[in-house]
Amino acid sequence: MSISYQSTRGGESGLTASQAILKGLADDGGLFMPDRIPSLDVSIEELAGMSYQETAYQVMKLFLTDFTEEELRYCIDHAYDSKFDTEEIAPLVKADGAYYLELFHGNTIAFKDMALSILPYLMTTSARKNHIENEIVILTATSGDTGKAAMAGFADVPGTRIIVFYPKGGVSRIQELQMVTQKGDNTAVVAIHGNFDDAQTGVKQIFGDKAFGERLAAKGFQLSSANSINIGRLVPQVVYYVYAYAKLVENGEIQNGDVINITVPTGNFGNILAAYLAKQMGLPVKTLICASNDNKVLYDFFQTGTYDRKREFILTSSPSMDILISSNLERLIYLSAGCDAGVNREMMEELSKNGAYQITGEMKAFMKDFTGGYATEAENAAEIKKVYEDTGYVIDTHTGVASAVYRAYKERTGDQTPTVIASTASPYKFSHSVLEAIQGSLGDRDEFAVVDELNRVSGVTVPNAVEEIRHAEIRHNRECGRDNMEDTVAEILGL
Ligand SMILES: *Cc1c(COP(=O)(O)O)cnc(C)c1O
Repeated sequence: MSISYQSTRGGESGLTASQAILKGLADDGGLFMPDRIPSLDVSIEELAGMSYQETAYQVMKLFLTDFTEEELRYCIDHAYDSKFDTEEIAPLVKADGAYYLELFHGNTIAFKDMALSILPYLMTTSARKNHIENEIVILTATSGDTGKAAMAGFADVPGTRIIVFYPKGGVSRIQELQMVTQKGDNTAVVAIHGNFDDAQTGVKQIFGDKAFGERLAAKGFQLSSANSINIGRLVPQVVYYVYAYAKLVENGEIQNGDVINITVPTGNFGNILAAYLAKQMGLPVKTLICASNDNKVLYDFFQTGTYDRKREFILTSSPSMDILISSNLERLIYLSAGCDAGVNREMMEELSKNGAYQITGEMKAFMKDFTGGYATEAENAAEIKKVYEDTGYVIDTHTGVASAVYRAYKERTGDQTPTVIASTASPYKFSHSVLEAIQGSLGDRDEFAVVDELNRVSGVTVPNAVEEIRHAEIRHNRECGRDNMEDTVAEILGL
């Protein structure tokens, strides 16, 4: 049964999966959604014995229905290989009353690798299927992790270029070093004088500029996106929730059919939306706990039904969640409106005009599976320290937010349902904040001295991704104002 894709704002429909992946964002500014959410067609018993790669095939084939089995298996086998430092790909670690699903064993040690290892293969396969001759230019806004993971995936992939915009001063030192040392002749990195929302809004504006699109086409280029607005990012993220559930059954932690909760440290709402899709496919999930940092726009939304981005943007120690416009929420809004694109479009127009919108009581009721929570900087640090002192396990600052929110949820509700916490980054990526949480103020100690101390404290080997930037050459130093992003793209491409 084939699935087609349509824009959440109603302007486009009837696309195949490969066409939706190639476009990234719909022409009307909407996001692509499948016309229905497919059900898993293998049993949990069968899934329990499967490798990550086989699970990925069983899940992704249901969404990417215009890919042949051979094409999809090729993409999966090349993505989830020895780039990951464990054959499990996404191991589950039981600690302090929860299951931490470690999604950071790929190339760039953040969960973005789970989807961005495969996106380049999905994209080039899609280009071939659709007889695309143009060079594909991937434009990406990053709050710190997507940029590196996307470049690692697309570096030197024939027929592609990648341009990444990150907020100057808004990412960790390790994140910045990872990006500015990126190799590959087709990669470009730009620090913008603004925050992540500025970067994301700027990228969306470039996508929406028809005249610019024509200038690009005249030179043989076409744009696509590696952000989680691309359905080719979202679908691979559904896989690890199915995999985690099957592993819990396989390991005898739960019985087949038992419900679990899932807690996700959330920014752009992509990762938690993938968990929701897994539930819609039939995975026994009860509550989805959406964890925010001080930028708690989603917490307020789930409390009140009003999304209001008119507030101060706060820089925190979990920078990949410093976001006030969570793009993928649009997909949930659309679903909650019974897939009425008109309702969704009006709300998104409200958001861009007035900075806020309010959903109806019916839409809010539709979202009953979600609950929001947030952790302050102090609560996050205390949680990292507590988990370390209780168990010796060291979590990063984003996972810390999720863990703190889950602990508070459990105390508030008494809900004892087994819970998976998405562990989205290696603690090494945020060495300074993590070590500070455990040991107290570090002053301005050298970043790599901190890395070595964290190694001593955690007993976890320093990942290759960190070792390789210790002495790497800086290759990118471009900066631009938030109103100059389009000119910068033109300059990089030599238009
Ligand atoms: C991107 C990111 C998040 C937020 O994920 P979304 O899908 O944007 O909600 C959380 N933690 C880390 C480490 C990330 O890189």
